[in-house]
Amino acid sequence: MASFEDFELNKQLQNAITEAGYTVPTEIQQKAITPILAGQDVMGIAQTGTGKTAAFVLPMLMKLKYAQGNDPRALILSPTRELAMQIEEHIRLFSTYLDLRTVLLYGGLGPKTQKEQLAKGCDIIVATPGRFLDLYLEGDINTKSLKFLVMDEADKMMDMGFIGKIHRILEVVPRKRQNLLFSATMSELVRKIAGDFLAFPTIVEVTEQATPAQTVTQTLYEVPNLKTKLNLLQHLLKDDESFHRIIVFCKTKTVADNVFHYLERKYGAEQVRVIHANKGQNTRINSINAFKEGNIRILVATDVAARGLDVSNVSHVFNFDVPIVIEDYVHRIGRTGRAFNNGDAITFCNPAEKYYVHKIEKLIRQRIPVYAIPEEVFVEKTEFKEGQDIAREIDNQKRKEDPDFKGAFHEKKHAPKGNFGAKKPSRGKASSSKGKSTKFRKK
Ligand code: AMP
Repeated sequence: MASFEDFELNKQLQNAITEAGYTVPTEIQQKAITPILAGQDVMGIAQTGTGKTAAFVLPMLMKLKYAQGNDPRALILSPTRELAMQIEEHIRLFSTYLDLRTVLLYGGLGPKTQKEQLAKGCDIIVATPGRFLDLYLEGDINTKSLKFLVMDEADKMMDMGFIGKIHRILEVVPRKRQNLLFSATMSELVRKIAGDFLAFPTIVEVTEQATPAQTVTQTLYEVPNLKTKLNLLQHLLKDDESFHRIIVFCKTKTVADNVFHYLERKYGAEQVRVIHANKGQNTRINSINAFKEGNIRILVATDVAARGLDVSNVSHVFNFDVPIVIEDYVHRIGRTGRAFNNGDAITFCNPAEKYYVHKIEKLIRQRIPVYAIPEEVFVEKTEFKEGQDIAREIDNQKRKEDPDFKGAFHEKKHAPKGNFGAKKPSRGKASSSKGKSTKFRKK
């Protein structure tokens, strides 16, 4: 199928699609739109960046057609506010010529405006599970007219512990309805929730499970420590023509803040922003919008904060830290190379993080090419504390794989068994010389 016209969507939708600049349906759109229009339950295995949002939004709008009554007829559940906002944006984009009413519900701010919007009547609700349930329990939502239920990024829903809330929601919606479930990866929990949620689903899979978008070039640098990671990042960013719109992913809020402050000092506050869960909702929205509009070059982010972030033309995704929830790797690099664009994903990996890289390579069923750190980049010595943390983590990883492993690190230090954290690193010369003893070598 080569064109959107083949779906026989109505004129209003066709016009909006053309205005959005979509000419060719993506693979997931080609595979999912027809069964959804036919009323089937669909399970879509599609990573972000494949066009999965439009794949369910377009047939949903086609089915809802026009505003009707006061109660919602479609509910779309999203794990995060950012993704919910992105879905709502797609709905707004495609319903330009329809009079459908959409309400967006998420937590982190007072419910007053959301309650007022619900009271005015709506056709579609896009919501995070917690806020939806809260407002339902307060009597602001009547679910009796719901006919269409979508669960987006089901794998993230499970990772974030939403399973209880999802079950609760399934109890309060009508049994007779059409269900769609989208997920980038297929874990045991996703399989389970799909079993509870979908009736004889049509399964559409656009690439092999958890295969990163083919438009993304992946690179790995083995970097001994944090300071060298910063040096390498700064070195690569010197090429500001090709590295023009960048997301830097960090594993924690603290690392994200540190990287942000470092980059802010180098490039000035007008080029860099940071988003993580401790930032207020408005700050996050402002930062994302500024980044989308091309007003800032670098966005530093943690995984949760960046979930659902829809920005096209991201030139590079940096994994400043290797994600420990390995499925996040697929989500992170899906931020670049979206739709029909190309992108680069660059991962920095310290000796303790190699463990996760191996797991990621198994998941994505491909090797990530390793590049040597460029000559110009100063390779710093690993500080004592960091060296110890890395060695301890490697010991723990080995122990996880082999319960009989005694732990080289901890024997060397003569620490009491099972009591790693208790021993304070010694100070002074001796400690810093030990810090150099990291076995990790650049390639
Ligand atoms: P998604 O996977 O839904 O997050 O979509 C990724 C990006 O691709 C979004 O910016 C969409 O607007 C864009 N997109 C989706 N489908 C198409 C299409 N058929 N043609 C061009 N761009 C698209």
